[in-house]
Amino acid sequence: MNYDSASNIQDLLQFGEFGDVNPSITDSATYTFMQAKTMSETFDGTEKGCYLYSRHWNPSNRYLADAMAALEGTESAWVTASGMSAITTAILQICNSGDHIVSSLSTYGGTFAFLNNYLKKFNIEVSFVDITDLAEVEAAIKPNTKIIYTETMTNPMLQVSDVPALAKISKKCGAKLLIDNTFTPMIVQPALLGADIVLYSMTKFINGKNDCLAGAICASNEFIEAISSVNDGTAMLLGPVLDPFRSSSILKNLHTLHIRMKQHSSNAMYLAEKLSELGLQVSYPGLTNHKGHETLKRIMNPEFGFGGIFSIDMDSMEKASALMEKMEMEGVGYLAVSLGYFKTLFSNSGKSTSSEIPEEKQKEMGMSNGLVRFSVGLDMDIHRTFDRIKKSLVELELI
Ligand SMILES: *Cc1c(COP(=O)(O)O)cnc(C)c1O
Repeated sequence: MNYDSASNIQDLLQFGEFGDVNPSITDSATYTFMQAKTMSETFDGTEKGCYLYSRHWNPSNRYLADAMAALEGTESAWVTASGMSAITTAILQICNSGDHIVSSLSTYGGTFAFLNNYLKKFNIEVSFVDITDLAEVEAAIKPNTKIIYTETMTNPMLQVSDVPALAKISKKCGAKLLIDNTFTPMIVQPALLGADIVLYSMTKFINGKNDCLAGAICASNEFIEAISSVNDGTAMLLGPVLDPFRSSSILKNLHTLHIRMKQHSSNAMYLAEKLSELGLQVSYPGLTNHKGHETLKRIMNPEFGFGGIFSIDMDSMEKASALMEKMEMEGVGYLAVSLGYFKTLFSNSGKSTSSEIPEEKQKEMGMSNGLVRFSVGLDMDIHRTFDRIKKSLVELELI
């Protein structure tokens, strides 16, 4: 495996117009031309060197997109105003009415809602499978299957997708393999393992500051040109473009991602181990008892650890709620959705970020009412954080 490409971000020559160490921010919606002919050629696609209008491309978004492409080892990328718009743009670009998608049942709640509820409008059918059961994936393929969809590490079940094996299946049936890598930037580079398109909610680890929403689509030149075509490109025509000010701030945060991922992972590993020792039911891919442990070890870049997300099963929503409220009071972190933040966040998945998934489906994927998902922060003193969680558990008589 070649993970060197992640460090290519550092080799990108991205500086401002006055030699500024950070690229200049382009504060313009539209761009001037000296010749009318160049403008018409930019519209018809024969001229590729000019900026036209910010919904199409703008220099700030280009810098961030180039860095994301370097991170993933793809030819190109396009940055969006949210993770959901990256996901929906990629899917709507590929599928026509009458097409079929095979998707992991365990995905981000918004993605599940889009696939299960929204795509009905377009007569696009979706079969949901246990993505770790490759025989089930293969059996779900139909002649009109255009996409196999999954997350490298699924939200919130933390199932690990065997990306190379799924790539083999998708190549065989002529479908595109779309992977949402939001939970595992740096740790896994799905495109190098055979994925056709890598999607991100940059709202999470990539930006890491919880100050904005953003997304990315990393793919081939051909695909990025297709989505940004003025005639029939989904990104150009639906318009989920990221604001250049945000692009520029996310790009600066991207340059510390490798350090942050290591710290998130080592903090999460520490808490997962210590909470397991207390006898709690902990799900973390870094633990050898986790179903996806071996798969992740096979596809990961070990330097960055097993990721910053783990969950504990408190059996009931009541116990989960009591624990989360207590932990917030004790200064463990915040009772809030989202993840990849420098502070620890926790939420009860079934009643929040996965509430779009009907309860019987939640049961089917093994999600308990008492599941508390932690996004472990960059805590300097993780021992102290553990002590506070333990104090909360003891005082509530949960252990
Ligand atoms: C948050 C999240 C999304 C959605 O991203 P937004 O930026 O909130 O639109 C998609 N996939 C995963 C795995 C997520 O965690």
